[in-house]
This record gives sequence, C-alpha cells and structure tokens, in this order.
Amino acid sequence: MENEEKSLNFIEQIVEKDLQEGKNNGRIQTRFPPEPNGYLHIGHVKAICMDFGIADRYHGVCNLRFDDTNPAKEDTEYVDSIQQDIAWLGFHWGNVYYASDYFQKLYDLAIRFIREGKAYVDEQTAEQIAEQKGTPTEPGVASPYRDRPVEENLRLFQAMQNGEIEEGKMVLRAKIDMANSNMHFRDPIIYRIITSHPHHRTGRTWNVYPMYDFAHGQSDYFEGVTHSICTLEFVVHRPLYDYFIDQFADSDYRPHQYEFNRLNITYTVMSKRKMLQLVKEGLVAGWDDPRMPTVCGLRRRGYTPEAIRAFINTIGYTKVEGTIDYTWLENAIREDQKEKAPRVCAIFDPVKLVLTNYQGEGEDLTAENIDGHPELGTRTMRFAKELYIERQDFLEEADKNFFRLSPNGREVRLKNAYIIQATGCDKDAAGNITTVYATYDPNSKSGTEGGNRKTKATINWVECHTCVDVEARLYDRLFKVENPSAEEGDFRDLLNPESLITKTIKAEAWLRNEMKATEWKDGIAQVNHYQFLKQGYFVVDPDTTADKLVMNRTASLKDNWQK
Ligand code: ATP
Ligand code: MG
Repeated sequence: MENEEKSLNFIEQIVEKDLQEGKNNGRIQTRFPPEPNGYLHIGHVKAICMDFGIADRYHGVCNLRFDDTNPAKEDTEYVDSIQQDIAWLGFHWGNVYYASDYFQKLYDLAIRFIREGKAYVDEQTAEQIAEQKGTPTEPGVASPYRDRPVEENLRLFQAMQNGEIEEGKMVLRAKIDMANSNMHFRDPIIYRIITSHPHHRTGRTWNVYPMYDFAHGQSDYFEGVTHSICTLEFVVHRPLYDYFIDQFADSDYRPHQYEFNRLNITYTVMSKRKMLQLVKEGLVAGWDDPRMPTVCGLRRRGYTPEAIRAFINTIGYTKVEGTIDYTWLENAIREDQKEKAPRVCAIFDPVKLVLTNYQGEGEDLTAENIDGHPELGTRTMRFAKELYIERQDFLEEADKNFFRLSPNGREVRLKNAYIIQATGCDKDAAGNITTVYATYDPNSKSGTEGGNRKTKATINWVECHTCVDVEARLYDRLFKVENPSAEEGDFRDLLNPESLITKTIKAEAWLRNEMKATEWKDGIAQVNHYQFLKQGYFVVDPDTTADKLVMNRTASLKDNWQK
C-alpha cells in the first residue's frame, strides 16, 4: 500500500500507542458519519481515507453511520449516493448504521436526564436563548424555565413528542453550567421539534429529534467505536461528547474523539449547503457536474479512485487549518494517467492540409499508445492525402524561431507518420487560410529506417475523411477567486464564467470505438481515459451516444494557473 512507506500520521501514532497499551483488548473500531443531506465531496474523502484507512491498517472495522437527525434536509437519494461513492473509492464498511436506529434509546436517555434533573424544557425562542449565552469571558443568563419541576418537564417533553407543540416553540436543554468557560456547556439544546418533514426512515414516528451533540457520542458508545475521528471544529465539542457519555455509561469502555484539519481547496467551495444552492439554481448541471468538488463530479471529470487517494495521501493530516492549492489535485490525475492513458491526436482548431505528391487511397499506420512502450498497446491511424492539422502549426511567413510548418524549406514530422515540407496555402477573401499544401517524403515513415531522420518539430494530424467529431467540454476552475468563501458578498457572483467551454474538435478515427451507449456498472459509467497530445487528459462522458462522442477535459497537460 502507498502509505506503508510514509511515516505514521499523528492519529496512527495514537492508535499504535493504544494497541501497545492493550486498550479495548486491541480492538479498533472507527466510523464514517455523514449526514445524508448532500453528496460526498473531496473533503469527505479525506475523512473517509482516515476512518477506513485506520481500520484497514490495524485490522479493525469501520462502520458507515448515517447521521440522520434532521429530516428537513435528508433524503434516501443521498444515502444511496454516499454508499456508491465510498464503494467506488475502494473502501469496505463493516455495518451500515443510522443515528435514527437509536431514536428510541436516545429519547429514553433524554427522559432519564429529565428525571435526574439534568434537562429541562425551554419555551424561549432560539434568539432569546442565543442572547443569554453570554461570551467566553462573561457567564450566560439562566433561562426562566431552568428550574421547572421534573414532572412538568416530563409532561412537556411528552407533549413535544406527541405533536402537541408547534415547531420552534419548545426545546429540551441539558442543565449543565451557564457560567462554564466552554460555551457548549451553557445548557446546550439536546432536542428540538420537527413536524414539517417526515423522516426518510422513521416517517412520522418522531416529532422530536436529538441534536448532534446528544446523538453523536451516544451513537459511538452504543456501537462500540474506539476512535471517533473528526475535524478540528469539533475540538470544542469534545468535553461535551465525554460529559454526555459519562452520564449514562454502564462500563469502563469509552470511545475517544480525535480531530484533524479539514480539507479546503482553492477556487472551489467545500460546503454542502453552497453546493446544493448551485445545483438547485441550475448554476451547475447537477451534483455530478464535472466542475463540482463532489466525488461524483470528480469521477465524471475523469478522476480515478487511485488519483484521489494519492492526493489525500500527499496532503496528509495535521492539527492546523490551511488551504490546498487546486493544482495538487490536478497533479494527482496527471501522475496517475501519464503512463496509462493512450496518447492520441485530436485537432482543436483544424485547417486542411493537402499532400500534393501523395498517390493512392491511403494507408493504415501503426502507432504506439504510449511512445516507446509497445507492450502498452498499439493502434491503427489512417493516413491519406487530405489531413487536418492545428491552424497554429502553420505560418505563411515565419521567423527563424518558428519550427513548425511554413513554406520555408524546413522539414516537419507528422506524429507517427511521415516528414513533410509546406509549399503554400489558399486563403479566403478575408485572408483566412483555408488549405495548406505540402509534399511528403515516402521514405521517412516512422518506425522504418527513414523514420529516424530528425526534425525540429512534430505536429499532430488526423485524416479528413475518417476522423471523428468530438464534443469537447473544456472545464476550468469553478470560481475565479482563490477563496470564494472568504470574500464579501454573494459567492455566486464569483463563479468563473469560463469554467466550461464547449468545442467541436476532430479526433483520430480510433476513437469511433467509443461511440456507443455507455456501459454502467453498479450505477457508475465505465469510461476510458485518453491523453490528447499537447492538449490534456480527457475522459469519455456518459452523454456520449452512437451519434455523438462527448469528452471531458480532466486536466490540461500542464498547469496554466501558476502565478
Ligand atoms: P458540510 O459542512 O459540507 O455540510 P459536514 O461536515 O456537515 O459538511 P458531514 O456529512 O457531517 O458533513 O461530514 C461527515 C464527516 O466528514 C465528518 O466526520 C466531517 O468531519 C468530515 N468532513 C466534512 N467535511 C470535511 C472536510 N472539508 N475535510 C475533512 N473532513 C470533512
Ligand atoms: Mg456535519
């Protein structure tokens, strides 16, 4: 495995120490706890690689737990996509659990808290409760309902669950310490009423739902999690996590929470709320729009699980927040594909080239998919009298630094084919070049003895009559600024208007093999990757049909954004 060679990250060090000390009898159990309120993004992958990675490495188990405590935002569509994406990334979970499996247990626990004088029903508005929180240096103000008798609390909480109380009118709060220096201890809300939406699994059974802090640690305890790993914003929640478990635990076993730095990437957003907004408002084509930082978006863009995991492995885990340059992600797919993707010719801005001395119908040339590696496959390239080349590869009048085609007696090689010399061109009334003329040397074919003759430049080409039109979708950064979340104003105004440019290009005939209905496996399109010479990495898009080949640019060959 790739990470075997790297030094241990700080969480692996903790786990190894726990194992040496014989904690939990050497049992390692983690969980990945997504809320099913959106699709997974690359930030989640960082957590996934940690949670599943620890379990894999130390022969433990990682369970998938859906943190489904807010029916207003959650849906089975998200539950399904999350499982699909984790499996695609190559990870295997032990069990699938849902926080909603524990609704009864958590409700009973809340009743127990009320009975023990550790919780009370508050009738104030959310604003009033927030106002009374105080500041880290000033204690909060107690709610007027804080000292309600137990019986009244029990009756009201029951009424909340019975649907007798309107949403937002009452909450259940833990009665802890309104002066605690940790604000999370100032009587946190542990239950709220949600009647406006049925739950995607429990329907209308529940009218009250536990808050994150009352559900997460408890769920970890119920399941036997040993290492509950999350991101740094939860550091301040950890004392509360421990406090709630201590109130009801009936054994010495304790799950422990550990935190690492979130993943942020330049030129994108990493918030499900913002992504949902982009999808709902049609600012992107969907969750799997290839510009989205979602797992399904990256997949459609042409990222492989290996490239994504290598990226996560490169950035590592620390305890300080930071932002990773988008280029790192692109470098991961370049590195992944450079020795894999067949290198083919595609002409983005075609001009016709006629080889005036070429006789006959044409011929099939053999090309290596990756130069110098015949074992990685070869293909046939059709060659004939009329070709397309890139417009910029010909200049009618060139200076001595232009090594490509010009009627100046210089020789240029056609990739995988013959050496040619330009002789002239035709232009239209506006002065645009319509046809370039050249002669070819029949004794200069690549792969023959004459093929060894050196030229200063090699240019790409496709044969006019057999080449295939491709709808190329050229993707770029979704946002035009480095950190859209840090800017004032509406993040939607910062979208890069040139994040998608669609172009019809001409690719070599071999790609016609791709013009068929996409094959799907477990709901995932099975598509091939290519490198278009001098252009970038491309992948076939599932919009492809027998009539139209659609391809997405995964990444350019080199970084164009380097400052
Ligand atoms: P969002 O803020 O986008 O809604 P979230 O943190 O609420 O994300 P969850 O579904 O609760 O999303 O996240 C599941 C797990 O993924 C959590 O353990 C969380 O810490 C982790 N996670 C979420 N975003 C990131 C990120 N950007 N980097 C690393 N881990 C993340
Ligand atoms: Mg969350």
